[in-house]
Amino acid sequence: MKPVKPVRKHSAPPWPVGLAAELFAMVSVAAVCIMALGFLVPKHLLPWTPLAWNDPVTPLTPWKIAALRHDPSHCRALLAEAGVTVAEAPNRMDEDYCVVEDAVGLPSGGPQLVFEVQPPPPPQPGSPEAAALAAKLAADAAAGLPPPEPPGPRLVSSVPMMRCPVAVGLVLWHQRGLNPAAASIIGSRIKRIQHNGTYACRKMRTGDKRQPPRPSQHATANAIDIVGFEFENGRVLKLPGAWKGQEDETEDGAAFMKAARDSACQYFKMTLGPDYNALHADHLHLDMGGLRGCR
Ligand SMILES: [Zn+2]
Repeated sequence: MKPVKPVRKHSAPPWPVGLAAELFAMVSVAAVCIMALGFLVPKHLLPWTPLAWNDPVTPLTPWKIAALRHDPSHCRALLAEAGVTVAEAPNRMDEDYCVVEDAVGLPSGGPQLVFEVQPPPPPQPGSPEAAALAAKLAADAAAGLPPPEPPGPRLVSSVPMMRCPVAVGLVLWHQRGLNPAAASIIGSRIKRIQHNGTYACRKMRTGDKRQPPRPSQHATANAIDIVGFEFENGRVLKLPGAWKGQEDETEDGAAFMKAARDSACQYFKMTLGPDYNALHADHLHLDMGGLRGCR
């Protein structure tokens, strides 16, 4: 009888060792590549390096500014480097989705912000203005746009309380975008930026009835609505008229407003103005939220 060959049990298969070696090699190569990138590529072009105040503007700039929310002390250090003193705003929570933390105000050194709410006076019943308003509301309703907010108290801060990255975006926009554009187009510098709110505990107004509204970036003081600009030479440009060149019948006002919108896109994650939709005809909405857009 032939002796039965004992069946050799498999020892541990060799592939996990091979795989581990390959993985180690790949991780090593990746680490060397990343280190080489760190040496060869300027820091402002590396997505993982924090923003420095004198970094040139790149497509990464809005992302780097928004990422400052993870590093409040570096965010404040950048403002200090720019010569801007900030006041710490108290944390607040008004609804479960309206939570503001790490917010600041801009008391001095930064762009002068003026809070302006200009609710249009109600037209006289029976007047042409009242008829025009009724026609506009009907057209908005037909286009699926929501009706304007009912009059009443709104949770809007009169102090320009904002998340620190919004403040950094404003200061950079003011220094590097608005003032150079104002000098070359208007022949003057910016004296004040008019806004009509940063924090407001509300949902988004998208005009889209198919989706339930999500919290607005204003609900966390992560946005600001710009309504106009005052210049040192006394000139004032306001939306919506200036967008169409209707202020003092000059076209440079319209050119400045578009330059202001375009340069805001270089610093803010989201910039929405009159070119976006009718809801933004009278302001530039600027925010540091998760979405990127420029319209
Ligand atoms: Zn807004």
